[in-house]
Amino acid sequence: MALKIWMNTGLVDEAEAKVSVFDHGLLYGDGVFEGIRIYSSRVFELDAHIKRLYESARAIRLVVPMSREELVAAVHATVQANALEDGYIRLIVTRGVGDLGLNPFECRDSGLIIIADTIQLYPEELYEKGLSVVSATTIRNHPLALSPQVKSLNYLNNILAKIEALDNNVPEAIMYNHEGYVAEASGDNVFTVRNGVIHTPPTEAGGLEGITRQVVIRLAQEEGRTVVEKNLTRYDLHVCDELFLTGTAAEVIGIVEIDKRVIGDGKPGPVTRLLREKFENYARGKN
Ligand code: PMP
Repeated sequence: MALKIWMNTGLVDEAEAKVSVFDHGLLYGDGVFEGIRIYSSRVFELDAHIKRLYESARAIRLVVPMSREELVAAVHATVQANALEDGYIRLIVTRGVGDLGLNPFECRDSGLIIIADTIQLYPEELYEKGLSVVSATTIRNHPLALSPQVKSLNYLNNILAKIEALDNNVPEAIMYNHEGYVAEASGDNVFTVRNGVIHTPPTEAGGLEGITRQVVIRLAQEEGRTVVEKNLTRYDLHVCDELFLTGTAAEVIGIVEIDKRVIGDGKPGPVTRLLREKFENYARGKN
């Protein structure tokens, strides 16, 4: 069935949802976005996503062409128009239409696009078996060049790491920062478990401040688990008992091999499985 897409001020048919070739979102990757889940007809952690979108926009001096309240209403209207019980929302703010020069201030109106669709997940079997990953040689953007906290429309840094993963026949790659510490995966945050303690890199290490990460830290603490934010090295990933990723699309997924080193007994470990279950229940409002 054709989707209804929110374009700037209202809903249009998918076939009408078109962007100008002069939009700086296309010409320069100048814009910001969010990926958000719909679980059981509810938009998951919408306030946190809206907050992060406005912060990304502020960081690059981009005007979101709506108030937060209007944006929340537009998201709900788009979800309802597409009658989605479970799905994924892509919220995009582009710099808008300008000329061929870089100058963002020549673009008069920011563009707003909201797409709500079904989501293609990793197959269930991969959650049971766990992922293999590699360490990327491409480092995460230096924070003084472009803060990794900005969820910008230019994902080339992450895409280069993803290409390294795919070249190695694995679905994901771990990215390190300019100091050699773990930053994040190409589109997910990283956690380890060692001697019962959960570790994750602090956001200063160059990972996005993931909303799933935040939820999982809280759920782990509610289970009485200690979560420590600390810098992790490649060695720490190689020798940990459990390794897992969190993100809006992947949720919580175990890693069972990194750089040809098997993690634990080669299956997603007990903490990973517990947190995945807790996350599922929380997302669907079951606890
Ligand atoms: N890091 C990057 C680079 C991402 O693109 C994402 C996905 N938005 C994440 C981490 C995970 O963040 P979240 O849990 O908010 O989806």
